Amino acid sequence: MIIDTHAHITGPTEMYEYFRGLSGTSGPSRVQRFQISDERLEASLQPHLVEVGEVGTDLQLVSPRPWAIPTGDRREGLVVEITQQVNDMVAHSVKLHPDRFVGLGGLPQRPGVSPRSCVEELERCVKELGFIGFKINPDPGEGGAEDPDLADEFWYPLYEKMVELDVPGLIHAGPYRFSREPEMGYFVTEEAVAAWAYMRSPRLFKDFPNLKIIIGHGGGYIPYQIGRAKGFRLAEMQRDPTRESIEESMRHLYYDTVLYNEESVELLIKIVGVDHCLFGSDKPANGSAIDPATGRALNDIKPYIEAIPWLTAADREAIFEGNARKLYSRLSTALAKAG
Ligand SMILES: [Zn+2]
Repeated sequence: MIIDTHAHITGPTEMYEYFRGLSGTSGPSRVQRFQISDERLEASLQPHLVEVGEVGTDLQLVSPRPWAIPTGDRREGLVVEITQQVNDMVAHSVKLHPDRFVGLGGLPQRPGVSPRSCVEELERCVKELGFIGFKINPDPGEGGAEDPDLADEFWYPLYEKMVELDVPGLIHAGPYRFSREPEMGYFVTEEAVAAWAYMRSPRLFKDFPNLKIIIGHGGGYIPYQIGRAKGFRLAEMQRDPTRESIEESMRHLYYDTVLYNEESVELLIKIVGVDHCLFGSDKPANGSAIDPATGRALNDIKPYIEAIPWLTAADREAIFEGNARKLYSRLSTALAKAG
């Protein structure tokens, strides 16, 4: 089975026009929710299902689009309302295609506000919508307002609930506001900043040994730059012999294969290890562009993994399916319920 752990559902575009209308008012008091018929949602899902089916993916863990939740907005009611409606749309999509989709939630994060405010929605997503994990935005200030780094105690209320419910978090950047830092630079930079904060912390994984974190888009720049990180760590280890090696720190985390060339996918697997890699494609998205050299979509990632000569059949099975099943402990139950 091929399980794609990184994908997003868009839903009908008019839903976002409705959200823009909500944002343009003074904020919702009691809003009329956007209603989506099965037929309209199905029509919006069809191109997605066809594209993903063509590359042999059996199941996708689907979350809201990264830009869908306006984390930079300071109006709590508005952010919560939009987050709930987007999560409900993802749940509705899963209901229409329980054999193809399992849900991951988005969180109503806001800059400078304790993620304690996200716990209620997280719990609703798991207990009422049947979601099995979450997307965590490492920079809800959208480049403009700094929150403490992701290993800071500021984030502990979120981690406590994630561990209690045993739901992993996919670190995935969201909306951005600065033209010097458009999506390509911003996403992988923020994800690497998050990964490095986790790896630098001497405490976090002692306080939460069962916390499950996946760094999106191949771990940002971490695999490529791990040698430099090792330089810093070796100096620290000389001063403090209780400090773990950089390799141990790196392996507290998991990484998805959302990289659009074989060399980078191979580097990722080599550096972080087969048992810390999850198959992910982010399909459909900008990577759906056809590579003129191969005639295949860039985000058709399975052939990159199949071409790596030193991977065994068991390694490939772990990356395509086994690791995801281990990490997402609620996946089997969700699939059994979907029947
Ligand atoms: Zn993504």
